[in-house]
Amino acid sequence: MNAPLPVQVTRETAASAYERVATTSNEVAGRLAQRLAAETRGEVLFSPADCGRYATDASIYQVTPVGVFVPRSTEDVRIALDICRDLKVPIVPRGGGTSQCGQTVGAGLVIDFSKHVRNVLDTDSAGRSVTVEPGIVLDHLNAHLKPLGLWYPVDVSTAAQATLGGMAGNNSCGSRSIAYGNMVHNVLGAEAWTTDGALHHFRRFDESTGAARMLGERVRQLAMTLTPEIEKRWPKVLRRVGGYNLDVFHNQNERPYTTDGSVNLAHLLVGSEGTLGLTRSLTLRLAELPRAKVLGVVNFPTFYKAMDSAQHIVKGVGSDGTLTAVELVDRTMIELALQNPAFAPTVRAALIGKPDALLLVEFAGADKPMLLNKLKQLQELMGDLGLPGSVILMPDDVPQKALWEVRKAGLNIMMSLKGDGKPVSFIEDCAVPLEHLAEYTDALTQVFRKHGTRGTWYAHASVGTLHVRPILDMRTDGAPRMRHIAEEASALVRKYKGAYSGEHGDGLCRGEWIQWQFGPRINDGFREMKRLFDPLNLLCPQRMVDTPRMDDTRLMRFPPGYRVIPLKTALDWTPWDVQNDPATEKTTAPGTGGDPAQGFAKAVEMCNNNGHCRKFDAGTMCPSYRVTRDEQHLTRGRANTLRLALSGQLGPDGLASEAVRDALDLCVSCKGCKRDCPTGVDMARMKIEFLQADRKKNGWSLKDKLVARLPEYAPLASRFAGLLNLRNRSALLALLGERLFGFARQRPLPQWRSRHFFNGTPQGATREQVLASARPVVLFVDTFNGFFESANAQAALQVLQAAGYTVHIAAKEKPDGKHLCCGRTYLASGMVDDAKAKAGELLQAFQPFVERGMPIVGLEPSCLLTLRDEMTVMGLGAPAQALARQAVLFEEFLAREAAAGRLEQLKARLKPLTKDQPLLVHGHCHQKAFDAVSPVLEVLKLIPGAQPRLIESSCCGMAGSFGYEAKHHAVSMQMAELSLLPAIRNAPDALVVADGTSCRHQIADGAQRVAVHAAVLLARQL
Ligand SMILES: Cc1cc2nc3c(=O)[nH]c(=O)nc-3n(C[C@H](O)[C@H](O)[C@H](O)COP(=O)(O)OP(=O)(O)OC[C@H]3O[C@@H](n4cnc5c(N)ncnc54)[C@H](O)[C@@H]3O)c2cc1C
Ligand code: SF4
Ligand code: SF4
Repeated sequence: MNAPLPVQVTRETAASAYERVATTSNEVAGRLAQRLAAETRGEVLFSPADCGRYATDASIYQVTPVGVFVPRSTEDVRIALDICRDLKVPIVPRGGGTSQCGQTVGAGLVIDFSKHVRNVLDTDSAGRSVTVEPGIVLDHLNAHLKPLGLWYPVDVSTAAQATLGGMAGNNSCGSRSIAYGNMVHNVLGAEAWTTDGALHHFRRFDESTGAARMLGERVRQLAMTLTPEIEKRWPKVLRRVGGYNLDVFHNQNERPYTTDGSVNLAHLLVGSEGTLGLTRSLTLRLAELPRAKVLGVVNFPTFYKAMDSAQHIVKGVGSDGTLTAVELVDRTMIELALQNPAFAPTVRAALIGKPDALLLVEFAGADKPMLLNKLKQLQELMGDLGLPGSVILMPDDVPQKALWEVRKAGLNIMMSLKGDGKPVSFIEDCAVPLEHLAEYTDALTQVFRKHGTRGTWYAHASVGTLHVRPILDMRTDGAPRMRHIAEEASALVRKYKGAYSGEHGDGLCRGEWIQWQFGPRINDGFREMKRLFDPLNLLCPQRMVDTPRMDDTRLMRFPPGYRVIPLKTALDWTPWDVQNDPATEKTTAPGTGGDPAQGFAKAVEMCNNNGHCRKFDAGTMCPSYRVTRDEQHLTRGRANTLRLALSGQLGPDGLASEAVRDALDLCVSCKGCKRDCPTGVDMARMKIEFLQADRKKNGWSLKDKLVARLPEYAPLASRFAGLLNLRNRSALLALLGERLFGFARQRPLPQWRSRHFFNGTPQGATREQVLASARPVVLFVDTFNGFFESANAQAALQVLQAAGYTVHIAAKEKPDGKHLCCGRTYLASGMVDDAKAKAGELLQAFQPFVERGMPIVGLEPSCLLTLRDEMTVMGLGAPAQALARQAVLFEEFLAREAAAGRLEQLKARLKPLTKDQPLLVHGHCHQKAFDAVSPVLEVLKLIPGAQPRLIESSCCGMAGSFGYEAKHHAVSMQMAELSLLPAIRNAPDALVVADGTSCRHQIADGAQRVAVHAAVLLARQL
């Protein structure tokens, strides 16, 4: 696998591990840590912050483990198991930690398989099977299989995070389970350790030998004694994942577990949630990648009709195996998507009038004409069902993909509800037979109403598993209300002969419902099964059998007595300090939520641990995790650390604690999470808050001051350019710089210039001229483009003037020899007060232009976008908001003008690029966060012949001063090597455009190539 190397390995000597852990925890924990450190090569993480980060998953629960172990290999796992058995410490295996029911939280040693134990061991493309280690992520496996025309088809929504070990643990199910079945239908074999240390090969029962065979025989006997009970009590639906698969010997599932009727012992482990064995490897059945897909979007006048129609669709057009999904989008989701300008056109294209619900009906297979015929059949069927003309046909891939994205985004918007009431997952995957779906959803909606809440319905109508999360406040009365709703929902599930747990497993949330579902005799059978596999009760005790109550608030993330330490924040977080009405989702006024940390704690608590940030696909979030694969260096890990610190769970230092410093150390403030996190966790802004609190307490370093005050001393320093630039030519001076200030000696620092933009001949129009102009532009030249790369500012001026604009270079109203500054460098060092002062000057200077609605155009993304982001939360009031509305990047402005037909003059002057000249574009992270990358491509396309191609890159790794710091140099380079630098090296003849100052420096340092600002390329073509 092409995976980045981890850069941080937490290893310490066995003796110090013991000392450290034993003093903060207990003797057993100390010995455990000591032995793990001495006897394995894995990472031993026992600090309170590490334990806290692994105390939660995507559920509402929190249980602090004894410690965390990150094995480097399966051999480490084996040794850890032996040590735990010796010391009688329970084990909680874990993959991505995206379970929704609390499966991965427990008071034992958490073993995280996801970082290292993730190899593909064997691929048999002819036999369509693959053997993998449990920590591999589904998307990564499928990327490996794609060239072979194969895939693993259990396509869970968390495909980018979910590990195969975790998917097997939960018996996960994908959107296309109607065609491919659940996890259990697609596992061919498993190697696993039982707690006695024996490694078993679980496979076909009739081919099994040794201890595995004996275990299988005992379970078979158990199942046989329970046959009448199993027949009577077992839900007969595809989507039953609760309890153990004791029915493998006498299948009760709608779909047989094996294609040839054989019994496979590996299926006993599937869905056992880590309670029976520790998986070492899994052998999986693969499917051919569908060569074609078509989508029919059925519009329904009522939600009830949609639900009622699902059964007819499945029966009517689903018999030949080409029907792969029937997914629901309800009115709330439609409305949410319509409100979003990016999604509105896609949704509108799927609507006929004002439907109450949509069903997205997908067919897939090898033969497109045959699939088109299926769409026709769907149309006819809907006519027969009294809804002629209700289907929008989407035979092409692009609109299909766009619509699936909308569905995903709608859920994200729903999850971003501010206030303490949150959509809670606890009955979100009950499965009922399709013929009862309409009545079930209708009745459950009434239940929600009765309890003063509501839920938005979505997902898998094809298999009777509709997701819904009622809004509950888990800090107040959420737990008892959850219980009431769960009880009423369970009565409905029983009435309609469904499965209470139809996708997300049992864990803490549904463990107690296993006995309810299967009855006491089968439950005793489960207990016996657990005893056979794990007689020492070391694997996830009190899960699956003898489980706690779902509403035991002591096990929750917000237990009784959860308190936030009062905090006076530097930035305005009051929009998060609100409460909401669970029935209407309306929120109260900002600042009224009762947060002692002025909204900051509530902003942090928005992280619901869904793990979406553990991703490696295109996009920005989260570069430090991509490089390290450490939970600590992940947006989720950081949010959890902040939450623990703000609630006093990491000691009295609160925000200014060492644990927070460590967790935020590698955050490059790229704002990737601001854009990508479904709940809007904005760690870059949170880091500013931390830096301010931390440095106020612990003081600013010399390096902090040098970075922050650059805009102040730049005019003076530029006068000594020759002298200061010596540092880049003398290894000794570079070394001295590293020792004194912490700047990496390997890095050349930006070159000072005695002649720069600000001391050159004044250019551009005067204030008066621009105020009187019909085509005005105010150009904001920042410190970096002004002092270090003046050519960029010159180029921008030239292009704007060539396009016929009257350009005024922004300057202080009363000149004092200093330029205007956005305050970015101060923010990056936690000097919020100084940043505010700079922002105040800027506001004053821009006021007359802003009042007249003139565009304020900037070149450096991190500077200009500060005006649209941080400046609006510094308490500067309406003028700052008004400025934010006018502030645009150079390309955003030009793209807007081009779209309005106002750039004809410029277009006529632009000379073509040399034929076939490759042109690569790297977007600055903040451009990506503000969706400001596509304007760069649009504007470059104004150059005749230009075909700009975007590099699918995350952060370049330089990130302001981050990459210049000696302690971050290695991580910085690894971030760049993830995709940016290889892409540039692979295109040796390409012109490279990068608007960010630090990105250009990183490209120069790492690939020895010159990247230019888009303005420079445009100016060159004039
Ligand atoms: C937003 C969201 C959407 C989701 N969508 C879906 C969906 O579409 N379909 C679906 O089925 N689920 C879904 N889930 C639930 C969850 O993502 C899946 O169950 C996923 O497969 C879990 O994978 P993981 O790697 O995170 O496992 P984890 O949560 O880390 O672990 C899952 C279980 O497996 C056990 N386990 C992990 N590794 C091992 C091992 N090596 N040996 C033994 N036991 C092990 C754990 O102890 C635990 O019991 C969703 C969750 C979220 C938050
Ligand atoms: S930070 Fe955002 S993306 Fe990451 S787990 Fe939390 S809510 Fe999910
Ligand atoms: S700002 Fe960037 S590095 Fe920091 S947590 Fe968010 S995505 Fe990760």
